Amino acid sequence: MRILVTGGAGFIGSHLCERLLDEGHDVICLDNFFTGSKDNIIHLMDNHRFEVIRHDIVEPILLEVDRIYNLACPASPVHYQYNPVKTVKTSVMGTINMLGMAKRVKARILQASTSEVYGDPQIHPQIEGYWGNVNPIGIRSCYDEGKRVAETLMMDYHRQNGVDIRIIRIFNTYGPRMAENDGRVVSNFILQALRNEDITMYGDGSQTRSFCFVSDLVEGMIRMMECANFIGPVNLGNPTENSILEFAEKIVTITNSCSSIVYKPLPQDDPKQRQPDITLAGEKLGWKPTVALEDGLRTTAAYFAARIARR
Ligand code: NAD
Ligand code: UDP
Repeated sequence: MRILVTGGAGFIGSHLCERLLDEGHDVICLDNFFTGSKDNIIHLMDNHRFEVIRHDIVEPILLEVDRIYNLACPASPVHYQYNPVKTVKTSVMGTINMLGMAKRVKARILQASTSEVYGDPQIHPQIEGYWGNVNPIGIRSCYDEGKRVAETLMMDYHRQNGVDIRIIRIFNTYGPRMAENDGRVVSNFILQALRNEDITMYGDGSQTRSFCFVSDLVEGMIRMMECANFIGPVNLGNPTENSILEFAEKIVTITNSCSSIVYKPLPQDDPKQRQPDITLAGEKLGWKPTVALEDGLRTTAAYFAARIARR
């Protein structure tokens, strides 16, 4: 198949492009390089089935493809809050452009939605039927509400125009090729630990997250795209839940670091707990994560250590 991956030069997108090429597909990576980088895809450039287009999905584009994975959107709070209006445009106008393409060429389209559609959730763990608790006017809402509209657009193009859609709700994902400067907890803590700098704990560290290794996520994404007769939304994430404090302690141990923890204010609207219920993914896709947190963290720490050493 000819497969378009928007945001293909980003963290998750680059792993997806690699996997799709390994499976023998033609892959078009479309990216505006806002948070993605050529370093993430340089190793794929020699492959004659791989193409890169520098383009912003807020602008229309005409391509002939069989599948569209729509991942283009900054994902870390630091990046999506840098230009919040642009973040909304990317999720709304960008998704309309990709849905327009899917409609025109009869491609199947998968939208990378997020656990953030559940906001600061009042039910735990989160199931797909939960409508969420999102602050519509807060500093996270450019991302959360943008992704909620993107889901709405997917459903309406499906109902109104018969577009073949898939919606996945991705929970916190980590692994090699996360951006160093993205301010997310995994990259921050690992870099701080490797440099023996203070670990910046926002709040008291009792808030929880559940971290999924990127190879597990990519497997789930492909299974969902190729699954017959199930459009989602489906949660994809690792249900192993940790407090952020426990998480910091694991990273300090794994990296053999002398860092100590310093406490900083909790950002506005920071969700208190997050854990996916992945029963639906198990039933419909036969999917569950396989990489244990400690193993994934070791691989990710080794990646960041190598990056620091290259400087
Ligand atoms: P990332 O920032 O590494 O990747 C996003 C990519 O999209 C980058 O390469 C960026 O340059 C590109 N991009 C951004 N705006 C664009 C635009 N207007 N036009 C074209 N390209 C654009 O983030 P990621 O972690 O790889 O996330 C990928 C997708 O998965 C995003 O849609 C994100 O919302 C979703 N997601 C990620 C996580 C996570 O934990 N990483 C969790 C939930 C959802
Ligand atoms: N966090 C932290 N220190 C950091 C970066 C993040 O304590 O240096 C916290 C953050 O407040 C949140 C959790 O870690 O409670 C996960 O943050 P991240 O930005 O990675 O993801 P999200 O909040 O979008 O799930």
